Amino acid sequence: MKRVSIICEATLEERVVELLHEIGAQGHMAVPVRGIGNQGEGSAEISETDQVQIEVVLDPAMAEILLQRLQSDFFAAHVMTAYESDVQEEPEESHVTTEEEQARLTPDEVLQQFKDGNRRFRSGQVTRRNHREQVRKSAPGQYPKAVVLSCLDSRVPVEDVFDQGIGDVFVGRVAGNLVNEDLLGSMEFACKVAGAKLILVMGHQHCGAIRGAIDDVKLGNLTTLLAKIKPAVALSEDFDGEKTSANPLYMRRVAKNNVRVAVATIRTQSPILKEMEDLGQIKIVGAFYRLTDGTLEFID
Ligand SMILES: [Zn+2]
Repeated sequence: MKRVSIICEATLEERVVELLHEIGAQGHMAVPVRGIGNQGEGSAEISETDQVQIEVVLDPAMAEILLQRLQSDFFAAHVMTAYESDVQEEPEESHVTTEEEQARLTPDEVLQQFKDGNRRFRSGQVTRRNHREQVRKSAPGQYPKAVVLSCLDSRVPVEDVFDQGIGDVFVGRVAGNLVNEDLLGSMEFACKVAGAKLILVMGHQHCGAIRGAIDDVKLGNLTTLLAKIKPAVALSEDFDGEKTSANPLYMRRVAKNNVRVAVATIRTQSPILKEMEDLGQIKIVGAFYRLTDGTLEFID
């Protein structure tokens, strides 16, 4: 990509922006530069002799077209300078977690990595990844750092939420992020056999499964599934306020209790995982994901 920098009279800015639109260039940035007529940096007035620097990043062919157009009579008479320079692109991450790296990591370090990853996700700073390379490198074997049990919800993109790449995390998904024999078996495989150091059960805001359990929805096989969320509804009996699915605070309480039930079930129903946790080989934590801003809240 090329960055084209244009320094021109401030009064010409509008014409230059029109030209950018004309050739289909988007996302320019304009900053005033101190010109002959400027009163200083604090001056809000634009005088005819003030200058402005306009920058836009384009593919090389488009940059060429823009520079040519700026040489037309009209612009040539007014534009002081126009030049292009190379844009350094951030390198893409192509590394995948190795067996040695996985073995070296402690459960607390993995948890910290996932918290840091969520911070990057929330602030729009996710790692640029070369997925093709990661697919190729991860094919011979996997050494994931964690297993995340999530709801089915399409608005909870697990790898993205933690800014993790291919081969970094086992993901178990079921509506209502509940634990059953199959998921326990999967977690035992993830930790005991494949070396994952963290089990993270993640509930979320506005969960349809939680709503269904509160509303006592009956529908085919869903009825059986929702029955497994009832213990969380029962645990939320002491909620002070309107106990309906229309109350977001109550929904949140049940969702969090549902995560607590899942974490407790892992400990009581899987002696293997319980022992690993007691020995400090793994950590089991619960969290609540806020759809509205991508934030993760850890649950005691
Ligand atoms: Zn859900």
